[in-house]
Amino acid sequence: MNLEKIMTDLEKKHPGEAEYLQAVREVLESIETIYNENPQFESAGIIERIVEPDRILTFKVPWVDDNGKVNVNLGYRVQFNNAIGPYKGGLRFHPSVNLSILKFLGFEQIFKNSLTTLPMGGGKGGSDFDPKGKSNAEIMRFCQSFMLELWKLIGPETDVPAGDIGVGGREIGFMYGMYKKLAREHTGVLTGKGINWGGSLIRPEATGFGAVYFAQEMLKTKGQDFKGKVVAISGFGNVAWGAALKVNELGGKVVTISGPDGYIYDPDGISGEKINYLLELRASNQDIVKPYSYEFPNAQFHQGKRPWEVKCDVALPCATQNELGKEDAEKLVSNGVMCVAEGANMPSTPEAIETFQEHKVMFAPGKAVNAGGVATSGLEMSQNSMKLNWSTEEVDMRLHQIMKNIHEQCVKYGTQADGYVNYVKGANVAGFLKVANAMLDQGIL
Ligand code: NDP
Repeated sequence: MNLEKIMTDLEKKHPGEAEYLQAVREVLESIETIYNENPQFESAGIIERIVEPDRILTFKVPWVDDNGKVNVNLGYRVQFNNAIGPYKGGLRFHPSVNLSILKFLGFEQIFKNSLTTLPMGGGKGGSDFDPKGKSNAEIMRFCQSFMLELWKLIGPETDVPAGDIGVGGREIGFMYGMYKKLAREHTGVLTGKGINWGGSLIRPEATGFGAVYFAQEMLKTKGQDFKGKVVAISGFGNVAWGAALKVNELGGKVVTISGPDGYIYDPDGISGEKINYLLELRASNQDIVKPYSYEFPNAQFHQGKRPWEVKCDVALPCATQNELGKEDAEKLVSNGVMCVAEGANMPSTPEAIETFQEHKVMFAPGKAVNAGGVATSGLEMSQNSMKLNWSTEEVDMRLHQIMKNIHEQCVKYGTQADGYVNYVKGANVAGFLKVANAMLDQGIL
């Protein structure tokens, strides 16, 4: 593989798509050796085919706000690769959404879904719509308009979207309602559904729970567990919430959460009623970070800062891409962090990852750590197909087992001669091999 040539060609074809190019480079660097050892991949053009999405749908989303004003947003669905199963991946509603971000997320999703051991291909979608500050009725009208276009492309055996940033149970509900009306079918076309209409128990918590199960496996390799560990978490959305709950349950102490304007440091720990309070704020569409520091006076709000300057044993970045840079990584390392597990997608910059690896800090990438979300979506699809509901214990047990399996695959393909586990390499190689071999079997498509 001539990595630099592939990257130069891609940069020419897709100028300015920084996040997408960053994600592709990371994967190609990790799989270079195994790719070169298997010449059949090269002769089947696997790299050239896997880095381009199968197709991208772009559409306009017109909607009317509460003042009667007409607004127009952009909607997208990137169907990246369906070698091992129907396209599967979330929808993100955030003003920063553009094609580069959705292509990076869709590309990562291919390997993440492969790691789960479930039959799911990779895709991603969303819109530059900003749900913040919108009324319920505005969110509903937007979701309905979005689905008016998207429904033509998706289906329970074709492409099964889920939530992501800005898309939770409420948005999935509005979109599912519209799909059902248009398709005249009650099928498992979206995951993250409400529990009364086809959803799975544990799905809301699954990404955060899975991330902590994965970090627990990492700690185990050093004979450690979460008991008494100080944990820094960023964000306080769906992923961070599930992670905070599970860390508390396993005896760890969560000392930070964050938002785009700064972070909260609470030395007493963020648990129990404090988490409930945060959930209330989140449900009311309000800023959550500042009000927390008024309500719990021992907590300090650090305006414009990131939580990575706090002394902690475990760091769980759970907010957004590129939120942990080289300087943040250096601070974490000098404060003695032992384990960094990415709950979000690509929250650490390449320079930050290098810093962790140079210092032999255990570091695992989002595509392995946060795969519990899509894995539980896969379990929701299985339940929908069987028209059965599994109990909380059953779903949680399967999720836990899947996270253990993913950890094992990372160790298998990522352990270096000195015993250090390169989880980035392990996850990329394990995820890639399954998809590449499926593509070989299915011919040039
Ligand atoms: P949410 O929208 O529920 O939460 C995102 C959180 O991050 C919010 O608290 C938000 O604050 C905060 N945030 C956003 N931008 C920044 C920033 N620049 N700095 C600090 N905090 C910020 O999203 P999710 O929890 O669903 O997703 C978080 C990450 O996890 C994303 O990378 C997503 O792709 C990934 N992921 C999510 C899965 C899921 O099942 N939901 C599955 C796998 C991965 P505020 O609300 O104030 O803007």
